[in-house]
Amino acid sequence: MKILVLNTGSSSVKYRLFDGADTVAKGLIERIGEADGDAADHGAALRQIMDSVDLSGLAAVGHRVVHGGSDFEKATVVDDDLVAAVERLVPLAPLHNPAALTGIAVARGLLPDLPQVAVFDTAFHASIPPEGAVWAIDAELARRWQIQRYGFHGTSHAYVSRQTARLLGRPVGETNVITLHLGNGASACAVQGGRSVATSMGMSPQGGLVMGTRSGDIDPTVVFHLHREAGMSIDEIETSLTRGAGLQGLAGANDMRTVQERWSAGDPAATLAFDVYCRRIREYVGAYYAVLGRVDAVTFTAGVGEHSPEVRAVSLSGLSALGIEIDPDRNERGEKIISPDGGRVAVCVVPTDEELEIAEQTRTAIA
Ligand code: AMP
Repeated sequence: MKILVLNTGSSSVKYRLFDGADTVAKGLIERIGEADGDAADHGAALRQIMDSVDLSGLAAVGHRVVHGGSDFEKATVVDDDLVAAVERLVPLAPLHNPAALTGIAVARGLLPDLPQVAVFDTAFHASIPPEGAVWAIDAELARRWQIQRYGFHGTSHAYVSRQTARLLGRPVGETNVITLHLGNGASACAVQGGRSVATSMGMSPQGGLVMGTRSGDIDPTVVFHLHREAGMSIDEIETSLTRGAGLQGLAGANDMRTVQERWSAGDPAATLAFDVYCRRIREYVGAYYAVLGRVDAVTFTAGVGEHSPEVRAVSLSGLSALGIEIDPDRNERGEKIISPDGGRVAVCVVPTDEELEIAEQTRTAIA
């Protein structure tokens, strides 16, 4: 059974065609609408994809949709009501949801007889209990304006936590994992028996861990202060905190490889950026240990998590009292399990595969 996975951005479409768990085609159409781009518009981009791959036996199209709000707890077959609901969520994801809606509309037009499935980044976190999702602000304001923690990277946390249980040879339903998705965006998740019970991103993908260009957690007064005292507009502040913060803000480079090179050369700004980045991860690991009560594994994934032994070592340093330890040689070699034999908590490195997870959830949704 073939599944086509589409990740439609504002100016790009990433696609991957699965036959079972095997990838039979994949690609990226970029700079859509630009003079030297790969396609004139999203319709042309999707037609180009459909023409270039063998769609015989295609059972469904799975679309990555960033924000499902509190309406969607799992991947859902697309109908007009779903489209209307995702449209209503545009104010919560102004860059991402419109692009996904374009992808859905074009794919529905081109393949009217096939089921289209929306797979939401937020859905895995629908299981977070109210005390982990609600902020202590005016309850009426929160209700009216849909202010709560939604969480993101859900397909990655779901996939990686399941793979961790498999790696340890344990049933998913009895395994507690702290997953650390450290890519360009970064988030932590506490997974209890296969269900998300806490995550670090909030109403937007801005909260929580330090990221390439995003601040992660800050005191909200920073925003008021920059507005009143520095005279910055709300838009300027948003741009600064989302594109000019994180590693970029502290070290002048958003790529962890660059930060680590400068750190190795003794650059003080890069050293501080690296330390702030790792310390924030350690704080979340401690917090989620307390939320879970018992932790079977801590798992690193995504660009930084999969490739930086330094970040893994520093962010989990000093946690041996919690049973969390790393074997330096295994860590350096990037083995799947980098904790010492017999450790109370397994520390794992698991490559994420969000597209495969989208394909699997799409298959489940149409079954
Ligand atoms: P992702 O969003 O998962 O593709 O992750 C992208 C980020 O991973 C990049 O911005 C890099 O900072 C980081 N990265 C990739 N390879 C390495 C590496 N060898 N060491 C440290 N960071 C890396």
